[in-house]
Amino acid sequence: MLYSNDGSFLSANIGLKKILVAGGAGFLGSHLCEVLLGQGHRVICLDNLSTGLMRNVQHLIRNERFSFIEHDVIRPIDLDVDEIYNLACPASPPHYQADPIHTTKTSVLGALNLLELAVRHRARIFQASTSEVYGDPQVHPQVESYWGNVNSFGPRSCYDEGKRCAEALFYDFHKVHGVEVKIARIFNTYGPHMRPDDGRVVSNFVVQALRGEDITIYGDGSQTRSFCFVDDLIDGFVRLMASPKSFLGPVNLGNPGEFTVRELADKVIELTGSTSKIVHRPLPKDDPQLRRPDISLAKRELGWEPHVPLSSGLKRTIRYFGSLLESTNLAEVA
Ligand code: NAD
Ligand code: UDP
Repeated sequence: MLYSNDGSFLSANIGLKKILVAGGAGFLGSHLCEVLLGQGHRVICLDNLSTGLMRNVQHLIRNERFSFIEHDVIRPIDLDVDEIYNLACPASPPHYQADPIHTTKTSVLGALNLLELAVRHRARIFQASTSEVYGDPQVHPQVESYWGNVNSFGPRSCYDEGKRCAEALFYDFHKVHGVEVKIARIFNTYGPHMRPDDGRVVSNFVVQALRGEDITIYGDGSQTRSFCFVDDLIDGFVRLMASPKSFLGPVNLGNPGEFTVRELADKVIELTGSTSKIVHRPLPKDDPQLRRPDISLAKRELGWEPHVPLSSGLKRTIRYFGSLLESTNLAEVA
């Protein structure tokens, strides 16, 4: 399906880039589409709507420079574009584990199909890789030169190994075909447009606190994560895409502030004023114990670092979920 208010959408428009955002209806993709449109570009948002929602891009549909294509990246596609952002892949553990074979296909065949598109149209291409390529890391904080500690046949393998294979494909397409590639290793990011039923920790805790439900800490809550607010991350994406041709990455993008999951739960309860109680649930298998990015490379090469502290980002996220839950019948929100 192709939605556009402007029949000439794919025609050349001097001075503007035509940019494909695969996974554009998801959490990060929808923010990226908005920023790119704000910069005057033409944006094709491609998504299979498996975890993404039309609600996330509804406010962009009226923009004549925006188009939406429903498509699965495991199948090839041909579009005349100048730049490609590959964000297409479920990111939340319960979602990517629900159909693990499709998750691997999405990462590997999706990367392959979009890289072939990049060769055909000489487009620059960005890969949303992940801190999961470090697995349960034995080097802390994680630097890009660390090769990681990944289980190749555990519940997270479909995601971790799929993303690692995608990085290899990006490098090989650069070597063999000269494609201009950019690889970002993204650390835990949160903010508006996450799904209430996403399953990741920030959205779970905020929604549970707002509904007055128990807050579910997996394990004892001593595991750490570093939480980046979405606006900071998207700024990093755009800087990486615009960086000199010779800089391919991989480059860590994330907020180096490190918190235990227990600290996050306490902060969410404090900021929402919730009466929710904390309960403990079993720690999922292969859940990484520590995670914090070393962002020296991003600072040096991109002049990038995050600016939004956890409390401010959480307040904005709480406001988003608060109005979403208010405006919709709670049972219907997804
Ligand atoms: P998300 O699940 O909200 O977005 C992913 C989008 O991709 C959704 O709109 C989904 O419908 C779409 N998609 C999934 N499979 C597809 C397929 N086969 N074909 C077409 N579209 C498909 O997740 P997100 O948090 O926005 O993550 C975006 C990207 O960033 C993902 O590639 C993810 O691996 C990566 N990433 C995110 C984080 C984070 O903390 N948000 C961390 C590391 C990496
Ligand atoms: N987590 C939790 N309760 C939840 C959801 C997640 O304690 O309701 C924990 C999870 O076990 C992990 C951390 O929070 O240790 C981050 O989980 P998330 O799924 O957000 O991302 P991950 O970094 O594990 O991919």
